[in-house]
Amino acid sequence: MAMDSKTKVFSYRGSMYLLLTMLILSLIGGFIIYRYSLLSHLNSENVLDVVIFYAIIGVAVATVMIALLLALRLSRNLRSLARAAQAMENGADLDSMPEFANDELGDLSRHIIDLYGRLRQASSDVEREHDKALHEQQEKLRIKRQLTNNINHELKTPVAAIQGYLETMISSKDMSDQERMSFIEKSYAHCQRLTQLLQDVSTITRLEDGSSHIVCESVDLRPLIDEIAAEVALLPDDKRMRVNIELPDQLMVKGNSTLLMSIFKNLTDNAIAYSGGRDIYIRLMDKDSGFYTLSFSDNGIGIDEEHLVHIFERFYRIDKGRSRKLGGTGLGLSIVKNAVLFHGGDISVKNRKVGGLEFTFKLPQA
Ligand code: ADP
Repeated sequence: MAMDSKTKVFSYRGSMYLLLTMLILSLIGGFIIYRYSLLSHLNSENVLDVVIFYAIIGVAVATVMIALLLALRLSRNLRSLARAAQAMENGADLDSMPEFANDELGDLSRHIIDLYGRLRQASSDVEREHDKALHEQQEKLRIKRQLTNNINHELKTPVAAIQGYLETMISSKDMSDQERMSFIEKSYAHCQRLTQLLQDVSTITRLEDGSSHIVCESVDLRPLIDEIAAEVALLPDDKRMRVNIELPDQLMVKGNSTLLMSIFKNLTDNAIAYSGGRDIYIRLMDKDSGFYTLSFSDNGIGIDEEHLVHIFERFYRIDKGRSRKLGGTGLGLSIVKNAVLFHGGDISVKNRKVGGLEFTFKLPQA
């Protein structure tokens, strides 16, 4: 819409100057002819009348013609501008705007339409942003509602079990000590599950709600991973796995140490609980564009491809009974994924060709 500044534009101001010049020239011309007629001693009265008459007629005709042309041009442009204003009021597209003459008013009209175009663009940008924010808010609410429903469901099982054991113990006075002890132990196991569940839910909620309150600093991953490996080494034989670490002595990451710890802890706990393998491998694969690419894998049974796409979902468990029995909440990998995303990285998972599961993820270098 914007005009090329070099384009020749018809000027109303110029036309007005032209009119004025014509008027002055006609008057000067009339005056000269009048003087000439006096000097040549002709019939001065007659010549004077004729000259004045023709000069006035000439100026009047020329002025009226030019003024008429100007008025016509002006009114045509004003009508176009009025049509454009009406179209703008109806929110019409820029393509449907009328064409304007190549003059000052046309120039002004094009500027107005240009402004209208920019205003339309700005308001549609704002609208789009608003829609996006609304959609995100609704999605967050939906996820929160879903999480609450799932938590309710997950809480019911251990609470009902504890209640059942306690009721049985209250009503069965003649219960043997051994039986009573076993009920107490089972109730305790369910309490532990409840505690784990509440901890996981609080981590997830913290990640989703208060990302801005989570402190990030320079964290060395090495001692953190060594600590996990040392814990695994203390496990009983049937649970112990070899933790093979192929990392530099120092690996500085910009992040939150609690969340970074929960990434490696959850992956390790899962490998021990579900993989059935003997080894865990933690490797540095790559470092570029400000990120470390890490691999966490085991040499166990892996996961069927149909489940693989879902395992980062909240409360997704392949074998529900087994997961519950092992104290799983179904939130472990969801926490891992959210924690990686919180650090600005991404995570993927695949079955290794040689067997076992491999997680590859990025964490920011400090
Ligand atoms: P859970 O609380 O049940 O451990 P997760 O989100 O941590 O929940 O894991 C989801 C499911 O993925 C688990 O129930 C388990 O079946 C499967 N899984 C996770 N890690 C492994 C692994 N290393 N090998 C085999 N299966 C795994």
